[in-house]
Amino acid sequence: MAEQTRARAATMEKIVALAKRRGFVYPGSDIYGGLANTWDMGPLGAELKNNIKQLWWRTFVQRRRDMVGLDATILMHPRVWEASGHVVNFNDPLVDCKTCKSRFRADHLLEDKFGRDDAAALSPEEMSALLREANIACPHCGNRTLTDARQFNMMFRTTIGPVSETGTEVYLRPETAQGIFVQYKNIMQTSRVKLPFGVGQIGKSFRNEITPGNFIFRVLELEQMEIEYFIREAEWEQQFDGWRDAISAWVDMIGLDRDLVRIREHDAGELSHYSKRTVDFEYNFPGPMGWKELYGLAYRTDFDLRQHQETSGVDLTYFDQESRERFLPHVIEPTFGVERSFLTVLLNAYDEEATTDVNGKEDIRVVLHLAPRLAPMKAAILPLAKKPELTSVAWGLYETLQAELGLMIDYDETSNIGKRYRRQDEIGTPFCVTVDFDTLDDGAVTIRDRDSMDQVRVGRGEVSQWLREQINV
Ligand code: ATP
Repeated sequence: MAEQTRARAATMEKIVALAKRRGFVYPGSDIYGGLANTWDMGPLGAELKNNIKQLWWRTFVQRRRDMVGLDATILMHPRVWEASGHVVNFNDPLVDCKTCKSRFRADHLLEDKFGRDDAAALSPEEMSALLREANIACPHCGNRTLTDARQFNMMFRTTIGPVSETGTEVYLRPETAQGIFVQYKNIMQTSRVKLPFGVGQIGKSFRNEITPGNFIFRVLELEQMEIEYFIREAEWEQQFDGWRDAISAWVDMIGLDRDLVRIREHDAGELSHYSKRTVDFEYNFPGPMGWKELYGLAYRTDFDLRQHQETSGVDLTYFDQESRERFLPHVIEPTFGVERSFLTVLLNAYDEEATTDVNGKEDIRVVLHLAPRLAPMKAAILPLAKKPELTSVAWGLYETLQAELGLMIDYDETSNIGKRYRRQDEIGTPFCVTVDFDTLDDGAVTIRDRDSMDQVRVGRGEVSQWLREQINV
């Protein structure tokens, strides 16, 4: 099926349903009725998410000589967030509905009403004026009782020590980036890194988002994969272009269709307080969502290091051995959301194909065309029938593959083989290995390819080598 058609088979509703049905993603605190904008990764979701993170870490940290890794804490000194500008600037413009008490992002209401993607750049006063002029109704209850827009800081607060005057108020980090800036001097002194070099980090961030989330697109507790790439000021444009290409290559690597991803330049009004140039990688989500941010790439100048140097009083300059100069490096920041990677990978992989079942009846096959290295299960071992002579061979093969490959292998002996194939298609397992009665004679098994549904016979002893070559982890 054409790539474009394939991606369009998915709707958010179908993905949410499949994710819950098959154990990719469950609503958070489900038995208590859920907690808005929180989701838990089920057994298959945990695998997919880990596979995305591992691939990212290997690609951007382990396989690059100019990169090192970091794993900083979520709780940091409160002055970090003063220096970074988050205490003053990390705000969303909010409006409340006086009737039903729902809350909305003013810029999102304006985007929906006027199709303006520059709404976030307006001041709360400008947004309020436009909202009043258009007399926008509450999207929840329909009453025209929305308040003016006011700024709301999105950082979660908590207290270290007893909750009284003696406790220290701290924030849950809203981005992982600041951990890298704060440890930049230690990294420089302990890792023999030379400009240009980068530090990669994967970790949790927290944002007190108030708008409905579109499944895991916008969550309160998110994971980010971020890089701060330290450079000389003069090379920023060339480095920016290099990282734009590196992000594009990653988008290909996780299997997203190129024509569903675009690069959008921020205009001057939209740029964050720290950035001289930013582009968003946007994905064309199905339904009313349309183009929305997937990843970001920003040139942050020397803003962060300068701010931390001034606030902490610690010299953060870099001494260049060649030019004998001392200066603050500039920074290019590629930033990737784990949940948004996960969601777009699922949306992009989802397909419904007209086919015939094992009895020749017309049928719709739901299949996830996941890149094999991201698939939660790399292969499934299926004895053709639940007969001891077949199941004992199948279990033996399962154990051999687990030991030799060290990868997730599924085993399923319930129901008919056609149903079992469909179950594996729906969770994106690239290969089904069937042990049948011929196996007992010739020692070979049938391997079925998820995408083409072609089948090949492979000797039992060669299966792990065969899979290793195909899966390319
Ligand atoms: P948005 O405009 O969608 O709120 P942002 O511009 O605030 O996003 P950044 O601050 O650039 O996002 O965050 C970096 C990356 O982290 C984003 O590109 C996205 O992938 C991810 N991200 C940010 N906020 C969330 C969230 N609430 N839930 C899930 N992922 C998020």
